[in-house]
Amino acid sequence: ENIAESHVFEADVARLLHMMVHSVYSDKDVFLRELISNAADACEKLRYEAIAHPGLLGNDPDSRILLTLDVDGGKLIVEDNGIGMSRDEMIEALGTIARSGTRAFMERIEANKQGEGAQLIGQFGVGFYSCFMVADRVDVVSRRAGAEDAWLWSSDGKGGYSVAPVDVSEAPARGTRITLHLMEDAKSYASRWTVERIVKEQSGHVPVPIKIAEKPGEEATQLTDGTALWTKSKNDITAEEYTDFYRSVSGQYDEPALTVHFRAEGRHEYSALAFVPGSQPFDLFDPDRKGRMKLYVKRVFITDEAELLPRYLRFVRGLVDTADLPLNVSREMIQESAILSAIRKGVTNRIITAIEKQAESDQDAFLKIWENFGSLIKEGIHEDFERRSQLLALSRFRTTASGDGYRSLADYVANAKEGQQSIYYLVGGSLEQLKASPQLEGFRARGIEVLLLTDSVDSFWVMSAPEFEGKSFKSITQGSADLAQFKKQDDDKSESATAPAEVQAFIDFAKEKLADEVSDVRASDRLIESAVCLVASEQGYDRQLEKILQGAGR
Ligand code: ADP
Ligand code: MG
Repeated sequence: ENIAESHVFEADVARLLHMMVHSVYSDKDVFLRELISNAADACEKLRYEAIAHPGLLGNDPDSRILLTLDVDGGKLIVEDNGIGMSRDEMIEALGTIARSGTRAFMERIEANKQGEGAQLIGQFGVGFYSCFMVADRVDVVSRRAGAEDAWLWSSDGKGGYSVAPVDVSEAPARGTRITLHLMEDAKSYASRWTVERIVKEQSGHVPVPIKIAEKPGEEATQLTDGTALWTKSKNDITAEEYTDFYRSVSGQYDEPALTVHFRAEGRHEYSALAFVPGSQPFDLFDPDRKGRMKLYVKRVFITDEAELLPRYLRFVRGLVDTADLPLNVSREMIQESAILSAIRKGVTNRIITAIEKQAESDQDAFLKIWENFGSLIKEGIHEDFERRSQLLALSRFRTTASGDGYRSLADYVANAKEGQQSIYYLVGGSLEQLKASPQLEGFRARGIEVLLLTDSVDSFWVMSAPEFEGKSFKSITQGSADLAQFKKQDDDKSESATAPAEVQAFIDFAKEKLADEVSDVRASDRLIESAVCLVASEQGYDRQLEKILQGAGR
């Protein structure tokens, strides 16, 4: 009796598979990294569940991942003794896409097949479905730890898949076995040389040992020992090892821009290994994106939702491993834990300090970080009151004096005119648009620097940053420009903004005509060549923020 049920893939899965197979991505090797990382996740989930239910481990307590080669049969088999999947979990996990941002990601790839596509997909954790880049049939046999039954999921990656029960004697005692029936042009993935190379390159630091068997049933030898890299001393770790590890935690293929690795001792004991990515993750501005720092307790993975860093540092990837929390800490209790908030503070400080050091020692490297993540760091000015002045000092800006470079607020203050009380800024959609603004004329003529702000977060932090080194932030589109006190550069005597009689006549005329549109009409120092411009009142919002709020349907 054949009791296999047929299912069709969810529409998004079908799209993703189509994209994967008609490959925008030439580097098919990643499928193995994805399968190994799932196997390792499954082992970590089991270790976690076994804290409360030690019986789940049975007489096989040590996690492992086994790769079995079958050159004659054209197969590669990836097996783990992790948590396994029940029938329902298989249908859920291998037939749908849970990850947020996937749809947006696919749209971007489809819109740009040749260009950034290849780069993007490398950044994106391509996940389980990537095995269909190399296999025309995939069989997944899984037995959930502690379960009496085992299930086979099978698909050719075209329209759907089948699910059927299998005899437990044909399944791993616990965990998941994935058999890839390799495509004609992918047979090399059954060769030891290729598999060993990929594992060493991409999965060398997975915290579960990986073994390899040259033939089904043959004795396995160890490829990697599963030692947790972060437990080693810094001096014993090479740059390549850090890079490999970064790639495995971030799913990105670039080099980390900054690596922060330390062990805290004293009141709280923990190790942290964190990376600032070398490029922007594709989902950086996805509102659902969470921080992805992993929390381990004594090397057991607990959760990646512990908010180990403030929200604005959500671009940082890595982990914290502590012995101070009990292993059986519930994921819910973690958030309230005082130990965790001490760790959060410690790790945040170290990361910001490391970025500061980079700014001092290697400008160019720091500016790359700033270009990728500066707009997030500026969110911190708005959100992280305690570190506000530190973050302000770290920030870099385009200004009327920056040319193609960047200026810090310290640069700005050093360049301020005598008696200048404010740090002037102009907010807008693009640099070109800002540079052409008539609002700048009076400032330019007097050699007064103006920050040109184009990130959407800029409208917000300027309002919450009361001052830097005693100078307040002031929008040049708001209120009076009080420029009369500063001399124009090509002019010796300062000019007052009191209007001569004929101008006053025009002002009266304009006021009358525009009575319903504007609250006031004034003569101003801010213009040199242009005749008029709009400004916002001293109280309330700056012009750009007004626009943003209107756009938000306020
Ligand atoms: P992700 O790993 O980001 O969740 P994947 O596409 O790689 O996305 O995997 C989808 C899901 O399939 C996993 O979240 C997990 O629930 C399940 N899964 C995949 N491989 C295994 C495995 N070896 N053991 C247990 N569950 C697995
Ligand atoms: Mg995965």
